[in-house]
Amino acid sequence: MSATQPPPHIALFPGAEMGHLMPVLRLATMLAKRSCIVTVITAYPTVSAAESDQISSFFHHNPKINHVELQLTPRFQQEDSASADPFFLQFDLINQSIHLLRPLLSSSSPPFSAMFVDFFLVAKTAPIAKELHLPIYVVSTSSLECISLMAYFPVLTSNPTEFNNASTEIKIPGLPPIAMSSLPLALFDPGNLFTSMTIKNSQALSKADGILTNTFEYFQASTLGTLDKARVTASSPPILPVGPLEPLNIPLDGDHRYQSWLEKQPSQSVVYISFGSRTAISRDQVQELESGLEKAGWRFCWNLKTSIVDKDDQADLEDILSYLFLERTENTGMIIRGWTDQQEILAHPAIGGFVSHCGWNSVMEAAWQGVPILAWPQNGDQRLNAKVVEEAGLGLWERNWDWGGGIVKGDEIERKIVELMTDEKLRERAAKVREEARKAVESGGSSDRVIRDVINSLILPF
Ligand code: UDP
Ligand code: UDP
Repeated sequence: MSATQPPPHIALFPGAEMGHLMPVLRLATMLAKRSCIVTVITAYPTVSAAESDQISSFFHHNPKINHVELQLTPRFQQEDSASADPFFLQFDLINQSIHLLRPLLSSSSPPFSAMFVDFFLVAKTAPIAKELHLPIYVVSTSSLECISLMAYFPVLTSNPTEFNNASTEIKIPGLPPIAMSSLPLALFDPGNLFTSMTIKNSQALSKADGILTNTFEYFQASTLGTLDKARVTASSPPILPVGPLEPLNIPLDGDHRYQSWLEKQPSQSVVYISFGSRTAISRDQVQELESGLEKAGWRFCWNLKTSIVDKDDQADLEDILSYLFLERTENTGMIIRGWTDQQEILAHPAIGGFVSHCGWNSVMEAAWQGVPILAWPQNGDQRLNAKVVEEAGLGLWERNWDWGGGIVKGDEIERKIVELMTDEKLRERAAKVREEARKAVESGGSSDRVIRDVINSLILPF
């Protein structure tokens, strides 16, 4: 960018839930750091308290990034909405309110140069981008495997000889075969909102100029290498690896006991357990986890959530965990209820391993910090991601463990936690991943070059 050329003005439009908001906020700061003018459009009201807290704290600490709110119109109640996922209903509502976006975009000064939107919003936003003559990029918040599956899903479902109950695997050109048992369970139900939205949005992918993906060359070298020109189908836009998206480093308000507790623990002695922002663990599974943790004997820091939406997580610790467990692990364990800064925890020298559901943000955060993962996928794209974790050398994955509601026994958990915390080769490989993650985004690194190319392509010639 020369001194006389105005910088591009980019509109970022994230979807619902923390796993889709965090990566877009991170991308916003990375673009601002590279001299772009950035406006983030967030839907109001949000579903979770975590989202609204994060949004206000982000703009408070990043005054140069503009914030525009899209006021959601009252929900058109779907008949099955009571049983549907609250965050997915929110995606649906954002899509229903998208007509409000055009006036927000067209009245901006300086005018926008491009739109970067969540995958689940591309079908409705692409026509607006076209009307305004703006390039549109999709922000993929998951692994290359997941976005490739999404992009290929309409092709798969149109071919019942390949995609049926008897198939054991699916083949996406340029990718290793994917086990049917690793597919998001919702995709087997054509009536599921997630499935219909996947199909609609993947059909619109051809309208996008690129898919910005939170991954990096070293981490997924073989898949990036074998995808034909980084495209899943001939009409898909190229996949652009721009990760790992860098931590936000925004101080968290309030009193956080876990910070002072971690300070007192020896180096690499603590296993951190978290299933992300929206995965509720059943009471039966909690009991088995208690038993596994106690038997494994390692110190632990457990981020415990028992509801999908944080506002509903009202139960007291004593109602969820056994009295004996709490008493016996009083000094060696820390249970966290409510929102934490996961990046800060993973960065702490006391942390030696991470039991993770493998939400993609968590995977990239562990890669950034070089913390070995014990992959314990629970639903959605997480088995696809667990395979990547294993192949990249960042973690262990016990693929026989049940998912989608099955219970893993305490003895099994104990065995794998001990393996996670004592595998020195794994620790070395994870340290290498950390080194390469940081190289990717530093000036001239593989992801930095991709981001700069995108930015440069948006600068208008004089
Ligand atoms: N996260 C956090 N504190 C919490 C729970 C989650 O900072 O108490 C962050 C986590 O670091 C990640 C995001 O929320 O950035 C969750 O995204 P992920 O893809 O890992 O899982 P999801 O919540 O979408 O299942
Ligand atoms: N989802 C679901 N069941 C599934 C797969 C997905 O309910 O088997 C919903 C759920 O709301 C999930 C969202 O679809 O968070 C997006 O799924 P994705 O696979 O993209 O995972 P995420 O991006 O949240 O990590």
